[in-house]
Amino acid sequence: MMKTLVVKHANSPTSYPIFIEQGLLKNLFWLPKHIQQIVIITDNKVKKLYAQNLLKSLQKTKKKVLLLSFPSGEKAKNYQMKHKLEQKILSKHFDRDAFILALGGGVVGDIAGFIAATYMRGISYIQIPTTLLAMVDSSIGGKTSINTSLGKNLIGAFWHPSSVIIDLHCLKTLPQKHLINGLIEALKIFIIYDKNSFQFFEKNIHDILNGEAASHQIIFSAIRLKSQIVTQDEREKHLRSILNFGHTIGHALETLSNYRLLHGIAVGYGILVESKISEILGMLSRADYFKISQLLMKLGIHPKKLKTFNLQKIIALTQLDKKAKEEKAKYVLLKKIGKIHHKSKQFAFDVPNKVIEHAFFAVSEMTNAGK
Ligand code: NAD
Ligand code: ZN
Repeated sequence: MMKTLVVKHANSPTSYPIFIEQGLLKNLFWLPKHIQQIVIITDNKVKKLYAQNLLKSLQKTKKKVLLLSFPSGEKAKNYQMKHKLEQKILSKHFDRDAFILALGGGVVGDIAGFIAATYMRGISYIQIPTTLLAMVDSSIGGKTSINTSLGKNLIGAFWHPSSVIIDLHCLKTLPQKHLINGLIEALKIFIIYDKNSFQFFEKNIHDILNGEAASHQIIFSAIRLKSQIVTQDEREKHLRSILNFGHTIGHALETLSNYRLLHGIAVGYGILVESKISEILGMLSRADYFKISQLLMKLGIHPKKLKTFNLQKIIALTQLDKKAKEEKAKYVLLKKIGKIHHKSKQFAFDVPNKVIEHAFFAVSEMTNAGK
C-alpha cells in the first residue's frame, strides 16, 4: 500500500510530499500534468536498469524529454560533469519551466539537484532515489552538492525537490553491499533518535538483510524520522547536525580509503568510534555501546579493520571537515540509544585528542565478542 509523508519545514513555506510504494516508476501519477519539458538525469547503470523505460513512458505523453547520463560512481560528482550536463540542457533550449528528474543514487541526486538549483537561477526537480542510501538519506532534506579536489560536498546549495518518489522495486537490483550501505544510515538515525526502531532492527536483522517486509518498515521509519529532523532545522543550524553522528570519523576514513570504503560503511566504523567516545566520556552506558557494536558487526563492520588506518591522519582530517570550527573537529555524542547529548541548541562538541585515541584503540582491539 502506498505511503505518503509530507516534509513541511517549520517557519518556512517549503513543503513537499514523499511517495513510497513498489512500482511508482510504472505509474506516473506523481508527475504534475502541467510540465511540458523534462530532463532525466541519471548514471549509466541506472540508465539501463530504469531510465530508458521511464523515457519511453514519458515520450508517449508527447512532452519534450531529454535523457542525460554519466559514468556511475562518486568520481563523476564534480564541476566538469555539472558543466557538461548543463551545456547539453542549454543547447536543447530547455527554459526555466523545465523540470529535472534525478533518477539514481545519491551521486545523481546531489549533482542533478545542484544543477536544478542553479539552472536559470533555479528550476524544479523531483528526486527519484534508486539506492537505499538515497531513499533513506540523501533524497530528503534538500542538500545538493558536488565534490572538489579539496574535499567532498564542499560546493552546493540547499534546494528542495518538489517531491520524492521512492519505488521500492528498485531495491531488487541493488547489490548487497549497497543495501548494507543504506541500512547503516538508517540504523544511525535510529541510534540517535528512536530506540523503538533500533530494537525492531535488532530483532528483525535477518529479515531486513533478506529484503523481507521488515526491511520496508525500516525504510519507512528512517524516512519518517529523517523528515522530522530536517523539518525542524531547514539549514542545519542546530538539531539537524545530529545526523552527522558517526560522520566526523566516518568522513576521514572515507577520504583515507580513497573512497574505496562506501560512505555508509565508513560511517559504520565512525559510529563505533564515536559511541565509544560517548562511553569514555561517561555519557553512554557500556550495555548500550555493546548493543550498538553487536548490531554493526552483524552488518559486517569489523572493529579490527580500524587497525589498517593511521590514527594521526584520521585526526588531522577530522580537523579539516566542513563541520569543524576553527580547525576543531566537532562530535555528536550519545546519551543512550535513541537520545543524543545536547546543551540547549548545541548538538556537537569538541573532544580532546587523547579521548579519541583511547576510543580508537579500545574499538580496534575489540574482539568479535564485543569485549
Ligand atoms: P551512488 O549514487 O554512487 O550509487 C551506488 C551505485 O549503485 C552506483 O554504481 C549506481 O549506479 C548503482 N545503482 C543505483 N541504483 C541502483 C539500483 N536500483 N540497482 C543497482 N544498482 C544501482 O551512491 P549512493 O550510495 O546512492 O550515494 C552516495 C552519495 O550520496 C555520495 O556522493 C554522498 O556524498 C551523497 N549523500 C548526500 C546526502 C545529502 O543529504 N545530499 C546524504 C548522504 C549522502
Ligand atoms: Zn551519511
